[in-house]
Amino acid sequence: MEQPPEARKSRVRKAKAQSLPDDQEKFRVAFEMAGVGIGLVDQQRRFLEVNKKLSEIFAIAKEELLGMTIDALPVPAGDTPALHPGELVVTRDWPLISFEKRFVTRQGKIVWVEVSYSPLTRQKGRPDVYIVSFHDITARKTLELALARQASVDPMTQALNRPIFAERADIELLRSGRHRYKLALVMVDLDHFKAINDTYGHAAGDQVLSIFGDMTRSCLRTMDLFGRWGGEEFLLLLPDTGPSGAKRVSERIRASLDSYRFPCGAQVTASFGVAARRASERLSALVDRADAAMYKAKQSGRNRVVADAEDVRRESTRKLDALGVFELHWRKLYSCGIDKIDTEHQQLFSIANRILAFLSSDGGTVGMEPLVDELLTHVAIHFKHEEQLLEVRGFPELEAHRLSHRKLLAQALGLAEQFRQQRVTAGALLGFVIHDVVARHMIREDRKYYSWMRKSKSADKGKERRPKGRRPA
Ligand code: GH3
Ligand code: MG
Ligand code: MG
Repeated sequence: MEQPPEARKSRVRKAKAQSLPDDQEKFRVAFEMAGVGIGLVDQQRRFLEVNKKLSEIFAIAKEELLGMTIDALPVPAGDTPALHPGELVVTRDWPLISFEKRFVTRQGKIVWVEVSYSPLTRQKGRPDVYIVSFHDITARKTLELALARQASVDPMTQALNRPIFAERADIELLRSGRHRYKLALVMVDLDHFKAINDTYGHAAGDQVLSIFGDMTRSCLRTMDLFGRWGGEEFLLLLPDTGPSGAKRVSERIRASLDSYRFPCGAQVTASFGVAARRASERLSALVDRADAAMYKAKQSGRNRVVADAEDVRRESTRKLDALGVFELHWRKLYSCGIDKIDTEHQQLFSIANRILAFLSSDGGTVGMEPLVDELLTHVAIHFKHEEQLLEVRGFPELEAHRLSHRKLLAQALGLAEQFRQQRVTAGALLGFVIHDVVARHMIREDRKYYSWMRKSKSADKGKERRPKGRRPA
């Protein structure tokens, strides 16, 4: 039934009057239903008001958010918490501050959010309340990151491509110069890769490269850079690592590659060249030296790691410097007067000196193991002799001395084993064996029995000289 226009208009007006809230209510609905997360935050970082979208973004119930502070919004481990507006310069002249930030929901989902702060009031001084909006930009950010990754990473091996590696390496070189930490570069080239392609086909060759990429990355730390320099040629840049550390990492990669059988049936090896960055050295010069070392590895039979010899020599000199020992000097006052003990002590000094001389002349630690074994064998024999002698003479602190021997030997043998497994440096092993066992134990602890022995000897002599029946007053 058709209604007269006047009646219809009045009904619409009436309905509107019923459904339309007053202004305050209008804003409340707009706040609540906004497509952006909005919160009001006080100076104590607490949320005073939050809307539905904010609760959805973080998957946290509104009631819970209202009891929270803004910096309690969960962020991925290692990230800094969201800043409180009070810590930012939000002034009347600069009323809006916004930045992009990663959060993580309790379900582990990463959400990227553009966070914007502005003071609620435009009065002078520090505002009491801030309005903070949270705009979920996860979709855009994910795409952006994927594009950036595509532009910087080689899709076959997931290694950084050459220009990006060079750019990041340059930054790392600057940083290491400024903060004075070591930096090593490794050039890796797969051996006879042409033959792999020829035998198993190009697709199989591609798969080898891809698996090699995974294998290498699994041996690196997150701070290390891994780049594809050319076809089957890669670079590793290892911050805070010297030549011996870089050799160890390379050896680990070399060994895992060597023992792996690829799905196509191929067995592939690689040659590694290690160079340590010298003061103010440019990336190109460092790459050239790593390349030259790698070339030596190829020439000397492939499937091996070769480090720049001068770098290794410099490193071992620095290690000896750090030890503060170049040579142990035997002094007369180290003698206890018992020939057997003094001879053995001198013999230990001389083996220790052979190790030190070996290190500073050869420059490497290859071949050092047998010398360390020799030293520790002599130490063990000598400790036994010493304990036997002290037992015969009735040294009162024998048990403590025996315990100290046992501890030193156990620790030295443990370190030698760790050195063999490349878990500790030569410096750490020698620091202990030469310093703690040979030098410090003999000079400090052994002298306790030296003085005891001297005293008991002179007491014996006194007894001998004294005529029977006459005692000193
Ligand atoms: P060497 O031990 O002296 O390094 O011998 P090599 O055969 O590895 O060295 P050479 O430089 O002669 O050959 C490198 C080969 O690597 C030739 C090239 O076709 C192959 N290669 C380079 N990039 C790719 C790639 O992306 N996929 C495949 N399948 N092969 C590649
Ligand atoms: Mg090559
Ligand atoms: Mg090659």
